[in-house]
Amino acid sequence: MMCDMKLEPYSMGIGDRFGHQGLAQLQAFILARERGISVTPVWNKSYREHALIGSEPADVRREADAAVQSLGWQGSYRVDADHINQKTMERFLEPCDFFTLDVSDFIGRPSPRDIVEAVVERHRRLLGLVRIPWLSVSLDITREQARSLVGRYYEAAREAGRMYRAITRVRRADSVIIEVSMDEAEQPQTPAELLWILAALADEGVPVQSFAPKFSGRFNKGVDYEGDVAAFSQEFEADLCVLAFARAELGLPETLKLSVHSGSDKFSLYDPIRRALGKYGAGLHVKTAGTTWLEELTGLAEAGGDALRLVKEIYRHAYSRLTELCAPYATVIAIDRRKLPAPDEVDRWTSADYVRSLRHDPASLHFNPHFRQLLHVAYPVAAQRGSEYRSALAAHAPTIARNVTENLFTRHLLRLFGCE
Ligand SMILES: [Zn+2]
Repeated sequence: MMCDMKLEPYSMGIGDRFGHQGLAQLQAFILARERGISVTPVWNKSYREHALIGSEPADVRREADAAVQSLGWQGSYRVDADHINQKTMERFLEPCDFFTLDVSDFIGRPSPRDIVEAVVERHRRLLGLVRIPWLSVSLDITREQARSLVGRYYEAAREAGRMYRAITRVRRADSVIIEVSMDEAEQPQTPAELLWILAALADEGVPVQSFAPKFSGRFNKGVDYEGDVAAFSQEFEADLCVLAFARAELGLPETLKLSVHSGSDKFSLYDPIRRALGKYGAGLHVKTAGTTWLEELTGLAEAGGDALRLVKEIYRHAYSRLTELCAPYATVIAIDRRKLPAPDEVDRWTSADYVRSLRHDPASLHFNPHFRQLLHVAYPVAAQRGSEYRSALAAHAPTIARNVTENLFTRHLLRLFGCE
């Protein structure tokens, strides 16, 4: 399948809700490159984030271009229309070159029986015992199972096809990178399901270069993975093998790789992921999403004075609006209200108290994942403070930038893509 704009083997999605940290983020990729770790930065921002903050996709493009120009970045970089659907894609078409087609809502919608049957028949060589190179167990899918799999995912693949064609009516096919995401599905996808989903995407002519499945376990925002790490590793490796097989067998782009969403702070998975990438010579896209905003809060807390007062007020508002702020993120956060500090208590905290509770250092007794998750979804509170929040960002830019760069470089790029 043709795709002239190729996605590099290692790429990382970086979200920047308020659009002030482009330089500090790119600085982390420069430090990585100095260590011989080549990772493509992808600035991503979803429709939901734009709507809550009042920004436009074109603002992200401007921010990325400015950071690249100012730091003289010579490598590739992308701007991601993150989690778009047909209703929300319009404004992303011109400024973006990476498109994350979110088709999770179409999973399970019924497809005509004859269409399902035709897909199964077209890919009948995937039925029965199929030996996937490197995978210790062969896949063994009966025709009946394949019908059920295709029946479950075909409308999602069709929707990805419709979206891809809508994008390429406006944009040249060789100027876009396509990711398909099903990570916001109800159920995780097994390696066998992944293979049939990719078959359906190939039938629809979608040149998918990055696929975001829903993995088993919980990927809560801004905190570590919750689940069985050994089971995840097995599933992740099986997915890598299926992808390699699908690239060759289904004629999908040779650059096709996995994408891990809500990938920031999943520290317990980084060792198994890094080892698996090395073992299979595989690439990976990881979205770190909105945690740069938490580094802004960390930097402001560190700065003390009015900046510390501001982040305490943001917490107080977030605490009183918890239900409303958490609602859009129900499947990707897990906050135990009883473990949240009372706002009156937080008001008495020093800079160090606030930073220690917020910064993700799993070894620290002071780290509070509930506090961190609530602040993660609290960015609309800061957005409503408008210029007051933005002036604080400007006034304490160096302190914040140090936290943003350090977080991406040390805790993410080095651990995921560094050498053993
Ligand atoms: Zn996602």
